[in-house]
Amino acid sequence: MPVLKLDGQWREISLPYRSLCSVFPFFLAFDRQGRIRSAGPSLVKLCGALKPGSDFETQFELVTPSIGFGFDRIMGQLFTTFFIRILGTENLLRGQMLPRSDDESELLLFLGTPVVREMSDISRWGLSLKDFAIHDSVIDLLLVLQAKNNTIRDIKRIHDLLEREVETRRKVEQALHELNEQLEQRVVERTRELKRSNQRLGKSLTLLEENNRELRVLNKMGEMLQGCGSLEESLDVISYSLGRLLPHASGFLQLHADATGQPELSITWGGLSQQRALQEVAADCQALQTGEAVLYRSGGDLPRCSHLQGAPECDSVCMPLLANGRCFGLLSLQCFDHDRDRDREPGSDLGFQARLQLIYTAGEHISLALANLRLQETLRQQAVQDSLTGLYNRRYMSATLDREIQRADREDSTVGLVILDIDHFKRINDQHGHETGDRVLKCLGVFLKQRIRGDDVACRFGGEEFVLILPGVGLDDLIRRAERLCYEIAQGEFGLGVDGVPALTVSMGVGLYPAHADAQDDLLICADAALYRAKSAGRNRVVCYQA
Ligand code: GH3
Ligand code: MG
Ligand code: MG
Repeated sequence: MPVLKLDGQWREISLPYRSLCSVFPFFLAFDRQGRIRSAGPSLVKLCGALKPGSDFETQFELVTPSIGFGFDRIMGQLFTTFFIRILGTENLLRGQMLPRSDDESELLLFLGTPVVREMSDISRWGLSLKDFAIHDSVIDLLLVLQAKNNTIRDIKRIHDLLEREVETRRKVEQALHELNEQLEQRVVERTRELKRSNQRLGKSLTLLEENNRELRVLNKMGEMLQGCGSLEESLDVISYSLGRLLPHASGFLQLHADATGQPELSITWGGLSQQRALQEVAADCQALQTGEAVLYRSGGDLPRCSHLQGAPECDSVCMPLLANGRCFGLLSLQCFDHDRDRDREPGSDLGFQARLQLIYTAGEHISLALANLRLQETLRQQAVQDSLTGLYNRRYMSATLDREIQRADREDSTVGLVILDIDHFKRINDQHGHETGDRVLKCLGVFLKQRIRGDDVACRFGGEEFVLILPGVGLDDLIRRAERLCYEIAQGEFGLGVDGVPALTVSMGVGLYPAHADAQDDLLICADAALYRAKSAGRNRVVCYQA
């Protein structure tokens, strides 16, 4: 049996109290003295400090009808709609007053609902669906009330009022339902949006980390290239670094000879064959023709140059290596955008552009570093090389002779020295011109270079005089080899005497360390003295120094 707690005592009453609570969560029961006896759960929740026995007027204000609060006055206006304001708030309750008497006292029941004019009121009130619970038993309740008290006569009117009330509640309930749905929808959308932006964030983070890694590799490559002493060494650094920078790409780098423009050095990585990279002179490569980097997009309609034929259909870049506007090589990278080729996600272009930029930057670094190394090598070469004959110059000869004498001392060995002077060279100049004279010197240089052994060194001493250094040679061998050269030259075997230039002869002076001298200068003097004797003896001969 439902019970109602009145004045702190549990009493059995015939009112279906639970129904009352669920139908009118805002109901309020007060007695003749205006003391609150009981209240619905929603009202208790809203008012917080609502206690049984507390005064109605300390918590509420009867707004309409303006009859003023009073038990009898309210009893006189029972069928009007009452508006009650919760003090300290803007919240209004609208409802009916019903008289109710139990065994001991008379009570007034206010059956109210919150006045909701617009959506914002719901949140202002802090209402939930529960506060609007409706129950079919409301009709039963009123019937019970009427039967018990016999005070409600106009059932039809009450019924209409209730129907209106029910309709209003349904609308509110509907609005709440829609609001809830909207909220849920927004939560779903926001969650989806959040997920998307999380994914985007994750991607850019990965991209950022990748870019950082690439920049580190790039910087490291720059540092390593600076420490390289030769072009060969730098090519190793480049192939290693590009392999790390673009792990899925393959490529090659060619360096072209200054004189011919043909590839003379190359390196490959990522599975390309070294032979192919060197053989395939990319004559039709647009990058070489235009001096600008060329990008071949996979599926693009730009005709691919021949060195890319047969390569898989993927993004590739050709970059010319430039120094002072002149192209001295080619950097070719294939399939550098592995991710894009693998899953063509829209938006992955961001990564592609970053990678392309990286490649161009790497290409510029490489171009600059290689140009510097080439220049260094040229300068180094020029410092020790005679520009006309390509043989070592006198400075290099002096240093080499010094070094070889020291080695001979250490190893208890020898150093042979030959000074070679062209006979009557002045005549060649006079009769055929200086240019022909130069050509003769050049040819003799090439010939000497070809005819000496690996450890031997040929230098141009000055004018039409040459020096040969032969480490570790014995005296007999030294003389024999000098004589063979002398003979071969006289036979015109070094290519002269064919185009109008008469065959040449040379004279040679030979000295041996330590047999003939114990220092570099002395050895040169000895050989020179021997040469003088060769000239005096009629030229076209070899004379060995004799003390
Ligand atoms: P000898 O048999 O006594 O050595 O006679 P020679 O004419 O070879 O000797 P000489 O010292 O009288 O002349 C050397 C000539 O070599 C003089 C010089 O014009 C020429 N000469 C020296 N350097 C060069 C060069 O770089 N190019 C050319 N074309 N001639 C040179
Ligand atoms: Mg001379
Ligand atoms: Mg001479």
